[in-house]
Amino acid sequence: MRKKIAAANWKMNLTFQQGKDLVNGILVSDLNLKQNQQVVICPAFPYLVGIKELIGEREGFYLGAQNCASEKSGAYTGEISPEMLQSVGVTYAIIGHSERREYYGETNEILKKKILLALEYGLKPLFCCGEPLDIREKNAHNAFVEQQLKESLFDLTENEMNSVVIAYEPIWAIGTGRTATPDQAQEMHAFIRAQIVDRYGTSVAEETSILYGGSCKPDNAEELFNCPDVDGALIGGASLKAESFSAIASCLR
Ligand code: PEP
Repeated sequence: MRKKIAAANWKMNLTFQQGKDLVNGILVSDLNLKQNQQVVICPAFPYLVGIKELIGEREGFYLGAQNCASEKSGAYTGEISPEMLQSVGVTYAIIGHSERREYYGETNEILKKKILLALEYGLKPLFCCGEPLDIREKNAHNAFVEQQLKESLFDLTENEMNSVVIAYEPIWAIGTGRTATPDQAQEMHAFIRAQIVDRYGTSVAEETSILYGGSCKPDNAEELFNCPDVDGALIGGASLKAESFSAIASCLR
């Protein structure tokens, strides 16, 4: 049974104390996660160790980084390597968020390097894909996402692919308050799963979690998570309050 995941992407928000208060708020909300359900907290890099301490061995809770370097080690001032992340207990690394693609010039090729390096150090890539508004309006969104998958992911071996989680994040829905409808989300998630079937076969595709991201909130989470190919969400704005994040996580099926 594939994993159902609520992943919190804090982005460049919160002080350390605010982050700790937020995690404590989520922990006391007693989510009662089922065996196939996970909560992934992705704070800013300086908070990873402290948040890991708070999460401890709590069943179903994992730590994620918001990015990782594409190089192993060395003279890359300001970069954080997958090995460093792995050494402090990080499980997931968000790779290919549209903000990284847009503001930091991360191409499909660079992302492929990051994914391979993350896998080499035992991290699970949480790979983001998704189209901008003009591409959706031209009805070219499937081809756009297919290219992102092919250029960054589909050279992985079957074994490597088994460690990848995908997040479909239409750029026009991120931080805008405009959510994809359940039909739009389901259609794209089914399309992504069909691409995985073509490349890796049914059993890998059936085990790959595909999250939705883009203005996911307590009042739309349930209908999104009821879609058969939506396996949870990557959540930005609504992950900054314990109440709203826990409400979304409690909608995991
Ligand atoms: C995100 O940035 O990954 C995201 C989904 O943000 P928001 O929930 O704020 O749209």
